[in-house]
Amino acid sequence: MLNIIPIPAFSDNYIWMLQRDNLKQVVLVDPGDEGKVIAFLQQHALQPVAILITHQHYDHTGGVARLVKQYPEIKLFCQNTAVSEKPLSIDLPVADFITHPVVDGDTVDINELDIHFKVMTIPGHTLDHVAYFGEGVLFCGDTIFGCGCGRLFSGTAEQMTASMERLSVLPATTRVYTAHEYTLDNIGFARWVEPDNADLIQRDQEDMAKQEKGIPTVPSLLGTELKTNPFMRYKIPQVKQAAEQYMGHSLHTDAEVFAAIRLWKDKEYD
Ligand SMILES: [Zn+2]
Repeated sequence: MLNIIPIPAFSDNYIWMLQRDNLKQVVLVDPGDEGKVIAFLQQHALQPVAILITHQHYDHTGGVARLVKQYPEIKLFCQNTAVSEKPLSIDLPVADFITHPVVDGDTVDINELDIHFKVMTIPGHTLDHVAYFGEGVLFCGDTIFGCGCGRLFSGTAEQMTASMERLSVLPATTRVYTAHEYTLDNIGFARWVEPDNADLIQRDQEDMAKQEKGIPTVPSLLGTELKTNPFMRYKIPQVKQAAEQYMGHSLHTDAEVFAAIRLWKDKEYD
């Protein structure tokens, strides 16, 4: 069995740790804070064999240099952006540490844990963003959040909707491991967009109950995101209508609807 354990970091990040059964070898996703990770690994006598990076923002890569120093055999999977000519909005590059550069469609094989994930490039939050998918789980960094999505830094609304389209067709039972605990806050905005969405009202109650008990709201199910997350629902007539009402004019493409909802949240809610 593949266990996926959150190591909380900063104020609201989750560093995901993957462990097969009770093996001592583990995999880390987006270790932004080495202190929290190393303390956890030492406490449980664990050996990290690989790091997966979704994108190179400091709260996802901040711990890499120290982890590589402490565990020199560790493999680092990351899209190699050193070759890119475009500005990527990456704030803590790890190009020097990449042992396994990944591109779209690659399979990440971590044989120690019998893990085989597919790499999907999903630009939008940043241009260098990738997701890792397999075994019914998705690590999507700052692309999908619980009932929300990451801001558009270097990517465009067109890229983000194209990325959302790719993620939307994964099985609805996929467990979505996002990198932040933002769900309740996001649900508040989602209810502005779709006040009558019964699934959303139900999610609000369920996730509030979880948070009151100190339980993370993530992972969520992809099917739940598709029913409640306004940033994945730009094709739904009510969502489009709400976006048009906010903008005061009609919108014609998925990207226009998405961009309007993003603007609405950035300007009026956050
Ligand atoms: Zn980010």
